[in-house]
Amino acid sequence: MQYFIDVILPIPLEKLFTYSVSKSEAELLRPGMRVGVPFGKSKIYTALVYRSHNKPPQVYKAKEIHRILDDYPIVKGIQLKHWKWIAEYYMCTVGEVFRSAVPGAFLLESETLILRNLRAEVDEANLADDEFLVFEALQHQSTLKVHEVSSIIDRKNILPVLNRLLEKNIILLKEEMYEQYRPKLVRYVKLGVEYLSEEKLESLLESLTRAPKQSQVVLSLFQLQAVHKKPIKISELEQASGGSKAVIKALVDKGILEEYFIRTDRVNYEGEADHLSIKALNLYQQKALDDISQNFENKKVTLLHGVTSSGKTEVYVKLIEKCVRLGRQALYLLPEIALTTQLISRLQEYFGEKISVYHSKYNIQERVEVWNNVLLEKQKAQIVIGARSALFLPYSNLGLIIVDEEHEGSFKQFDPAPRYHARDAAIVLANLHNSNIVLGSATPSIESFNNAKIGKYGYAEIKRRYGNVLMPEIELVDIKEQTRKRRMKGHFSERLLEEIQETLEAGEQIILFQNRRGYAPIVECTTCGHSPQCPNCDVSLTYHQYKKQLRCHYCGYHMALQESCQACGSPTLDTKGFGTEQVEKELEALFPEAKTWRMDLDTTRGKHGYEKIITAFEQQEMDILVGTQMLTKGLDFRNVRLVGIMNADSLLNFPDYRAHERCFQLLTQVAGRAGRTKKRGKVIIQSYNPYHQILKQVSTNDYEGMFKEQLYEREQYKYPPNNRIVKITFKHKEYNRLNEAAEWFAKALQNALGGNVLGPEYPPVARIRNQYLKNVLIKIPTGKSAVKIKLTIKRIEKSFDAVSQYRSVRVIYNVDHI
Ligand code: ADP
Ligand code: ZN
Ligand code: ZN
Repeated sequence: MQYFIDVILPIPLEKLFTYSVSKSEAELLRPGMRVGVPFGKSKIYTALVYRSHNKPPQVYKAKEIHRILDDYPIVKGIQLKHWKWIAEYYMCTVGEVFRSAVPGAFLLESETLILRNLRAEVDEANLADDEFLVFEALQHQSTLKVHEVSSIIDRKNILPVLNRLLEKNIILLKEEMYEQYRPKLVRYVKLGVEYLSEEKLESLLESLTRAPKQSQVVLSLFQLQAVHKKPIKISELEQASGGSKAVIKALVDKGILEEYFIRTDRVNYEGEADHLSIKALNLYQQKALDDISQNFENKKVTLLHGVTSSGKTEVYVKLIEKCVRLGRQALYLLPEIALTTQLISRLQEYFGEKISVYHSKYNIQERVEVWNNVLLEKQKAQIVIGARSALFLPYSNLGLIIVDEEHEGSFKQFDPAPRYHARDAAIVLANLHNSNIVLGSATPSIESFNNAKIGKYGYAEIKRRYGNVLMPEIELVDIKEQTRKRRMKGHFSERLLEEIQETLEAGEQIILFQNRRGYAPIVECTTCGHSPQCPNCDVSLTYHQYKKQLRCHYCGYHMALQESCQACGSPTLDTKGFGTEQVEKELEALFPEAKTWRMDLDTTRGKHGYEKIITAFEQQEMDILVGTQMLTKGLDFRNVRLVGIMNADSLLNFPDYRAHERCFQLLTQVAGRAGRTKKRGKVIIQSYNPYHQILKQVSTNDYEGMFKEQLYEREQYKYPPNNRIVKITFKHKEYNRLNEAAEWFAKALQNALGGNVLGPEYPPVARIRNQYLKNVLIKIPTGKSAVKIKLTIKRIEKSFDAVSQYRSVRVIYNVDHI
């Protein structure tokens, strides 16, 4: 009998790949365990066992696996089902889901090792200096890693040396797997075994009378142990005794102290949980909670529609509390984890160390720890807070999923595949686990609200802010007229300036929103009209005054700002449009006394970038915060009275069927940061189109009106929710080849699907990083099978790939959310 396994490789292969294993390996292996396998000419990959069987593959001879990497499955059956759904629905491969779902540390890659060729005769005199250094090192150790070579010759680029050594036949290369995850070991100390009895200890202390520092250390350790009854870290002992590392080391060397190591998690929450601090709900929150619970009984996905500051979080807390009491796992999904330190500390206060955070900014090691804690169903990972990737953790017992701010676009992954929407994938996951799921938002997506309307989802709402604080008063200001009457100061209308002045005088805070970073998006020569463009992308370079640079926001290209026009040489450069930097600059001139700060991508880099700004603003160390849409995300500030939208028009004029919905959401969310406690907040929206329907709807808080109108328009133009869409993007560095390829594909689609195929068309930015882009849009009307149409598209892609000149054209699918 022969034994085989089918495995998932972390690469875009349509099919599972089969390897042969021995009988004893077959007995050990279970689905969800990792194996190292050879693939292609020399690569070794980490693959995941999908199933075992006895049928040899028909078209190739199965290779043997390299080795087994796990003792038990690190991925569970439900996860494999979930991956499969994602791959099919979002038109990618299971291998791509695998790659993106597990922490990078689980995907061992092969690394090149350098060995000495023992059969070669080496004439040392013939070696260049750097060659000799490598050769010499190989006399002392049998293998070298690439980075070791690099430090030996003290140079980054080591390829030339290695090439020369290879040519001279002095070295060999070997591919080896290496584990990336290293558990963190913490150093602990205890008293040596010999000194454990009391007499022994006494005589020890006596013998140390002439070494007071050492005896102090021993005494401290003794006391610490008596108090704590738990392992003592070396660092703790250092602190408690005032003894230095050297003193402790001397004691260890003498055998008086013993050092040992314990594996610990890198991320630990040290505070105490305080269930009692969980707040009692008010009437409206309680009603919402009851409605949600009722829907849960019928196993319905439930939408919680609660205005900003209505206290949705406290309702979630009650749901989590119940889930945890039943011993099940809870997942709290957020659009962007970096912005949620406020929320995390709120939840930690309630649930203490039961909370684990799964963070894209955490390093690989920290992610592996959370993964393992969930896998082993540890208490400390019973509640997971995370961004979309937290969906992929190995839950076995999920009882609740919360998708907070469910309308947020950042739940959709755009690159790389799988291009999934975390909210929708969460609903499928909940189904697989038989778990409850609630979607929450002050401004639900059209899709979710529609699902609630037609009864597919349950619905609960909270229409009042907590504490009966009024919704902020929203005023629209016509900047066209203000400009005509010369009433503008820079980009500030008279009304906005008045309100800022008043708010500052009252000692309250202000948020100003402009959805563009940098100083100005365009620099233009007023003599010849030339404006500097990115050499790699079809966009103008944005002027960043602070760094005196022109930067591309698509590829990161930058150059110093020129003194004069590069085309005609005139020094007549001017800027068009404005970003957050310019708002900040103008503020400094208009309100020199006020403390202003800016929050956008440029000021929040680094692990704690956001946190610092948010905390400083919370603690009222600044008066005015200028920022991009980062400001909208669920922040709960106590003292903000005024929110100013510098220019709403850029949001309205976006060429996208979702632009109006998004504009409504963004503005309502920013407005929602104002007046969250007692005093009513004020919002000023500046626009050239103050009569625009969407702005009216924002100012009157008319969500239903917006919904009805948008639904009607979506229906007219055959967009979701009632129709489905698939966008195909073609990408290639040659303009002509791209056009031909896209044309070919679109024709084939039209033949198969008829009139519901639009394009190919260039997107607004038609070239990014030197790759040209073209889109084809497929609309799938109600009643047509999306599954069948996706299969048709995939079939066409196969024929497309068979055309040799098109093979290098990248084909990218985006399903539903484009
Ligand atoms: P939302 O998420 O709906 O915008 P939050 O949950 O942030 O609103 O609540 C807004 C504010 O009201 C928070 O500061 C919160 O602590 C407070 N709050 C909400 N519900 C209660 C409650 N039941 N008791 C006391 N304070 C509450
Ligand atoms: Zn010019
Ligand atoms: Zn660019």
